[in-house]
Amino acid sequence: MTPITRDKLKQLYKKVKHLRLPPKLEEADFEKLTYYSWLDQSDMCLFLVYDFRGTTTGLRLEVIKPLAGALRLGFCEFCHKHRKQSDVFFVACETKKRPKGVEYQSRGTWMCSNYLICNRDMKNEVLIKEFFERIVEIP
Ligand SMILES: [Zn+2]
Repeated sequence: MTPITRDKLKQLYKKVKHLRLPPKLEEADFEKLTYYSWLDQSDMCLFLVYDFRGTTTGLRLEVIKPLAGALRLGFCEFCHKHRKQSDVFFVACETKKRPKGVEYQSRGTWMCSNYLICNRDMKNEVLIKEFFERIVEIP
């Protein structure tokens, strides 16, 4: 993926108040990554950055705690690998991209909590691209 800098992240997420940038951004080997992500533990948000249609695009997703007793999938929808339940989480955000008559829609996905392992195991970009397509409005 295209390497990202702190300035780029500030620009991508300029609407986010109190943006906490990833502490180890400089250590990332962007050549080996399909996407970059980091978790803000204080408000349980996941920031997901991907070259969507040739443009570095950032999503801010909420990490949703599963309800007690709810079915949990141990399956990542980006790399398509089965994982331990503790190694995936469900993330979601609202999107303006929606059918007519619907005020807003929430879109989510199960994904690896460790983005490095996820990137390593991704065979192609089809699934992450589809996820962005469900959320990002294309002008
Ligand atoms: Zn994964």
